[in-house]
Amino acid sequence: MKANIVLLPGDGVGPEIVAEAAKALKAVATRFGHDFAMTEHPVGGAAHDLCGDCLPDATLAACKAADAVLLGAVGGPKWDTLPPEKRPERRALLTLRSELGLFANLRPAKVWDALKGASPLKDEIVARGIDILIVRELTGGAYFGKKGRSADRTSAYDVTPYSTHEIERVARIAFEAARRRHGRAVAPQPGRAVAPRPGRAVAPRPPKVTSVDKANVLETSRLWRETVTALHAAEYADVELEHMYVDNAAMQLVRDPARFDVILTENMFGDILSDEASQITGSIGMLPSASLGAAKGGLYEPIHGSAPDIAGKGIANPLATILSAALMLRHAVGLAAEADAVEQAVSDVLASGVRTADIASPSGASSAISTSEMGDAIQAALSGF
Ligand code: NAD
Repeated sequence: MKANIVLLPGDGVGPEIVAEAAKALKAVATRFGHDFAMTEHPVGGAAHDLCGDCLPDATLAACKAADAVLLGAVGGPKWDTLPPEKRPERRALLTLRSELGLFANLRPAKVWDALKGASPLKDEIVARGIDILIVRELTGGAYFGKKGRSADRTSAYDVTPYSTHEIERVARIAFEAARRRHGRAVAPQPGRAVAPRPGRAVAPRPPKVTSVDKANVLETSRLWRETVTALHAAEYADVELEHMYVDNAAMQLVRDPARFDVILTENMFGDILSDEASQITGSIGMLPSASLGAAKGGLYEPIHGSAPDIAGKGIANPLATILSAALMLRHAVGLAAEADAVEQAVSDVLASGVRTADIASPSGASSAISTSEMGDAIQAALSGF
């Protein structure tokens, strides 16, 4: 298969970690016989230094024409004094999201077997397995609704609008992702066996979506619940659906995270729950993300920022970016086996005891390997050496 992939290294540790993800993609292309054309484009502060714009026209045009976009990170103290609308986070990230029409953010939160000790949760909770995908609506709700202050500035409001169209399109992504996590590209035929995804931390189980809202209080949540329920009945009856209030979901994430498979929720609830879920895994350098829209493609990036405190030292963990490349293969390019192979390589390398400094145990920190050595280890695992 041919795929046109745009790489946006960006700022701070961005270039270091994207280079390692590119190595992994090359290894996948060689092993599976694909032709990935990867081109790098400037973005963020680096682009501002080059041409005075954090998202140059040529970069945006390349992203629009690509099959998928892999981003490192943008921002850093050097550009913090730019006017807000010109800063890397706003100009590059928000513009990219809106120009590419990305309305769903996918964040897997998984505790890898070899890193169970990194989770702040009790061992008996972690032992039950944590492998959650959070699907957050990205362009609606209170963050984008009408906002304002009264004339005397003593009261304020943030309207939380949602339409059935907005709810349905993100719910569809969640149901499809739940099927895909359990080896189903389409609705299963009755009586047909379903292959579990390799490397899953938990025992195979039927796909499940937990839709999170506050329907006991909010009208938008009642519309959310009605819409998700109707879509489920019409198109996704093979996926288990449960509804949960957001306060309960926040509690269950730390009390019994193994009960979750895919969590579907609106923008603000998702913002909060996805950060909570990332903390229970205990390692920011391990967490990938995908932002998807109606068109094929999407934007794939680690959840962490540009880590200016460690930039240029060659110690950043590239695994979140490599796992973002796996999400890209699965969601943008339709290469599920190849995505599984990347995740299996990460699992195998971690199981062999290899660690970057951020995930090394305090006693083993002195033997932590570099960013590029971790990339080499993944490349070798993918190549079968
Ligand atoms: P950060 O995620 O960059 O760093 C937080 C901490 O985690 C730091 O100690 C850092 O060293 C560590 N860390 C992050 N990634 C790591 C990795 N791969 N390996 C090892 N350790 C890692 O958050 P911050 O310091 O708040 O932000 C730094 C800059 O990044 C800011 O300018 C911020 O605006 C920007 N930012 C960008 C994005 C993005 O591009 N999507 C997201 C968040 C923050």
